[in-house]
Amino acid sequence: MAKQIQAIRGMNDILPEQTTRWQFFEAVIRDLLSSYGYSEIRMPIVEQTDLFKRSIGEVTDIVEKEMYTFNDRNGDSLTLRPEGTASCVRAGNEHGLLYNQTRRLWYMGPMFRHERPQKGRYRQFHQVGVETFGLQGPDIDAELILMTARLWQKLGLTEFLTLELNSLASNAARAEYRDALTAYLRSHMELLDEDSVRRLETNPLRILDSKNPAMADMLAGAPKLSEYWDDESRAHFNELCTRLDAAGIRYVHNERLVRGLDYYNRTVFEWVTDSLGAQGTVCAGGRYDGLVEQLGGKATPAVGFAMGVERLVLMLEQLNQLALPREVDAYILAATADAEIPAQLLAEKLRDDVAGLRVMLHCGGGKFAKQMKKADQSGAEIALILGTEEVQNNQITVKYLRQDTAQETLSYAALTDVLTGLVA
Ligand code: ATP
Ligand code: MG
Repeated sequence: MAKQIQAIRGMNDILPEQTTRWQFFEAVIRDLLSSYGYSEIRMPIVEQTDLFKRSIGEVTDIVEKEMYTFNDRNGDSLTLRPEGTASCVRAGNEHGLLYNQTRRLWYMGPMFRHERPQKGRYRQFHQVGVETFGLQGPDIDAELILMTARLWQKLGLTEFLTLELNSLASNAARAEYRDALTAYLRSHMELLDEDSVRRLETNPLRILDSKNPAMADMLAGAPKLSEYWDDESRAHFNELCTRLDAAGIRYVHNERLVRGLDYYNRTVFEWVTDSLGAQGTVCAGGRYDGLVEQLGGKATPAVGFAMGVERLVLMLEQLNQLALPREVDAYILAATADAEIPAQLLAEKLRDDVAGLRVMLHCGGGKFAKQMKKADQSGAEIALILGTEEVQNNQITVKYLRQDTAQETLSYAALTDVLTGLVA
């Protein structure tokens, strides 16, 4: 036999047993987003490398070591998108979607990062991203958070998730804080690990993110960002908290939440869980008021978030909160050879007449017992059986596969009533 070619490490097939859960998640999220009036945008998976360098930042984990970058046949440097915000802003600028107007957008699709694959961390993964433009107040920040809280409710995940919140304030305030933090860290040089020493010059705020226990005490004593907040950012943060309180959303103010991308200012937030091990963040976002201008558009306030679909689907799977919808309602089989064509025609007619009905036709013939076994394996609620007698009398025998109801033989009209009840 020829040698089989394997998938690329960290890039997963999503198999039929898993897609039901994915589709369920996708359907819930589409409904939710449309209930808030958001519109979908679809961007390409490949962009010019400069787009990500200029937006995410040269000295971030993503740009320094995670991007899939290559030269195409023309020698242009291209990158598989590691996230969606930069592409969304690029598309918005390019098509004049953002200038002098408000937009509430969302997208869903694969992202690519060359990381070490492990549970909840892959090289191709999927995000649902939501981005809003032209709105600067804490009202829209609150809307995004309420939207995510509603999603957890619909998915049955509320009790497993905590909201962490912070403000990165204005660029000026953050620069002042950066100086104070750098001075403090310098005075504790002997405690910094290798990564942190490197970041001290380039991105000292990220040191606050460090999970290294040896640095925990030292970091706990570091100056606090909130001591450097400008008045407007403080008011913005307080108003957001007031709105969350009013809506009954609980949160923790995490002074050390800084996020890994350069473009954020003011509000940043993460929804975290301890049910996934190390990969605990399932949704993260914040305000990025400078990015549209930085990418060549007119200054436009913006706020958004992205969630990791694999991590949420893992939670759904692990916590087993939901009964997934069945994929097949009725399985049709022919007990005798002369009923085979009528069975196929019956399947077609039922698809015409019963909206939403999922019918599977037995194909490949075989003994009656074997066909019934297939009917059971399909997950169908009922089996519809046609034999010589049924065909002659224009009737169908109905066998209930999941409940203790006696088999019955019905007219077509009576059958459609039963099936309509089944899919209601
Ligand atoms: P992490 O700290 O876990 O590396 P991040 O800060 O790099 O996350 P973001 O860029 O904010 O992540 O992406 C938003 C969300 O996308 C994350 O909260 C996570 O749920 C998901 N995500 C990010 N990277 C991966 C990955 N490699 N595999 C699976 N999901 C991911
Ligand atoms: Mg990361």
